[in-house]
Amino acid sequence: MHRILVVEDEPSVARGVKDALVFNGYLVDHVDEGERGCQLAREGSYDLLILDLMLPGMSGLEILERARAHGVTAPVLILTAKSQEEDRVRGLELGADDYVVKPFSVRELIARVGAHLRREDRKPGVASAQIGRVEIDFSTRQMRCDGEPVPALPKEIDLARFLVENPGRVVTRDELLVKVWEYPVTGIQTRTVDNYIMKLRHKVEPDPTRPRHIITVRGKGYRLAHA
Ligand code: CA
Repeated sequence: MHRILVVEDEPSVARGVKDALVFNGYLVDHVDEGERGCQLAREGSYDLLILDLMLPGMSGLEILERARAHGVTAPVLILTAKSQEEDRVRGLELGADDYVVKPFSVRELIARVGAHLRREDRKPGVASAQIGRVEIDFSTRQMRCDGEPVPALPKEIDLARFLVENPGRVVTRDELLVKVWEYPVTGIQTRTVDNYIMKLRHKVEPDPTRPRHIITVRGKGYRLAHA
């Protein structure tokens, strides 16, 4: 199920967009303020972002810029007014994927959201990767060390894949719970991620007590370093 963040301060627009997205089967979080929107956009691990431009706290363009700088690759759709032509161009330069001019038809918005998400889903993932001592084939979902098979749990493979697909970037526990374990909401306290990171380290790290590949970033999460 796809998760979408809507940052829009105009209540009637926000309600219309949210209702239509929910009706079409998406999980939606809505924020009506820029700074909180920016935080969620960066850390909430959404599949798609819908950003209004003029917002209290922080503009949609700034949210977009900060999210991209943070390594967020999800499609971003911006909502603009007719008079905001320059902002629209700036938005596309900053890495927005699409824009919709207000007033817009909700059907059109939904169609565009669907198109972007289908395109994302079709992107091929990484086929294989070497992390430290092990080679992982994501198509056969097998791990090998020096040619010998290494038994691995399905979620270990999924976790490794997510790290490989986000190299060098700090991924948070929340993000991993949503993307790898498919939790529908963030903020759940569990040791699941930490336990699986430990399992994975015992396979890939020459010395699991001194990780060189799966690095802990204190208070934030984990980062894959190809050492
Ligand atoms: Ca606005």
